[in-house]
Amino acid sequence: MRPDRRPKFYRFDALTDVLLSRDFQVHTLWTDGKGTVREVLQKASDRKVREIAFTEHARHTSTYYPEFFAEIDREAKDFPDLTVYRGFEVKITDFDGNLDISDDMRAKAEIILASVHSFPLRDGSGVISPKTVDAAEATKTERDLSLGAIRAGKGDVMSHPGGMSMRFHGGFPLEYYEELLDAIRDTDMAFEFNHSYHAPILPELVALVRQYNPLVSIGSDVHDLDTMGRCRDALQDLLRK
Ligand SMILES: [Zn+2]
Repeated sequence: MRPDRRPKFYRFDALTDVLLSRDFQVHTLWTDGKGTVREVLQKASDRKVREIAFTEHARHTSTYYPEFFAEIDREAKDFPDLTVYRGFEVKITDFDGNLDISDDMRAKAEIILASVHSFPLRDGSGVISPKTVDAAEATKTERDLSLGAIRAGKGDVMSHPGGMSMRFHGGFPLEYYEELLDAIRDTDMAFEFNHSYHAPILPELVALVRQYNPLVSIGSDVHDLDTMGRCRDALQDLLRK
């Protein structure tokens, strides 16, 4: 079971300036981010982001999150204009779309981002870094892992689609983005615009997402506080044109 309180996602063609004003990929000092929960909330408030989700890295073995969630609840009371969600960014662990998350984490998370990080081997014998394979292998592996996650539907958001290929191999083919968009458009899963990974291709990606019109999530992938709201800002600029 999942919590009743969860963010609502909108299709691309429904996005307004107000609905774009959210940041649903945020990290803190609890893992690899640079700000405290309170500093993140203050920055979101300063930047007039209306809704944020704390989406900390976690694994099925993680035990830190009750304390993390309690801190969010405590601090968020001082920011009544902000809608705040608590969740995780978790790894896609196989080509069937399973995620590295425990039942208890799933029951408590208001948002679950499913991400390709390290690549599981196809025979299940381990994982490898996306850096250690060539671009053709990396992009194909990332596509297949993402399609598995979309079909299985165990996360709310397909997080930074194509991100490992973008970061380590300079790009992810537009036809693969189309395959992911074609698969996700009739599901309840949201396709994430992730400013940290997608900034160089955002205009092309927006044009594709416009065609397929899936549910959309917006994430600056905040690690440095200064990036809060950046994905919203970039999309608002593009959509006004
Ligand atoms: Zn990630």
